[in-house]
Amino acid sequence: MPDSFTQLEIHMFPCLSDNYGFLLHDKKHNLTATVDTPEVAAIENALAGKNWTLTHILNTHHHWDHAGGNLELKEKTDCVIVGPRADAARIPGIDIQIGEGDVFEFGDHAANIYDTPGHTHGHIVYHFANDHVAFVGDTLFVMGCGRLFEGSPEQMWNSLQKLMLWPDDTIIYCAHEYTQTNARFALTVEPQNQDLMKRALEVNEMRAKGLPTIPSIIGLEKKTNPFLRPTSTNIRNTLNMQSASDVEVFAKTRQLKDKF
Ligand code: ZN
Ligand code: FE
Repeated sequence: MPDSFTQLEIHMFPCLSDNYGFLLHDKKHNLTATVDTPEVAAIENALAGKNWTLTHILNTHHHWDHAGGNLELKEKTDCVIVGPRADAARIPGIDIQIGEGDVFEFGDHAANIYDTPGHTHGHIVYHFANDHVAFVGDTLFVMGCGRLFEGSPEQMWNSLQKLMLWPDDTIIYCAHEYTQTNARFALTVEPQNQDLMKRALEVNEMRAKGLPTIPSIIGLEKKTNPFLRPTSTNIRNTLNMQSASDVEVFAKTRQLKDKF
């Protein structure tokens, strides 16, 4: 790593009932971004606690618990709002539109942008490859994935496969603490997955202590997240879909989770 490279500082904090907020800070250039704007007061408290000044909002998608605080924060701080080109009309105050294949430069830190339609039509994720971290909004959760409000199973499975190509040690910041329910569901479709059983216990211990289960790493998600595992024989046997396509197994898994 070159001398000039400063670590991307990340500060995570709870927002609303089950969202997480994230501040990203580049010390050298004195830049601070919030990933999404779930709750203005919580974001302002986090900024004050760190003595950081907001310069950017990096939106993942248009839902109110992700972009609802955009205009208030922009009015107060004159920050730059970055968000999905494919959904620009639904991102309040958007200044910079980005999408698949773009690189967003945040001081010394570069984020590769991926379009991940499925949860919403215009959802994007930010992969800071050199920093080994990604902010995935409501596309991927710990042992879960976003509901398909606007996209097809094909689109979501295609989106998730993009994330699966990242290095296994990539740290994944997702936007909601849904982990315990996700683990309980995951065990119903893949009851013989040893990694999953072990992790479900760990997650219960963490939550009993009031600890967040975020971030995760993509390597562990690939071993335990049923939405990344439509090839699993155990899942296919549970669903009696031994010869179905991956996307069919994914779609069925998502359908069952919606009813869980
Ligand atoms: Zn959402
Ligand atoms: Fe959300």
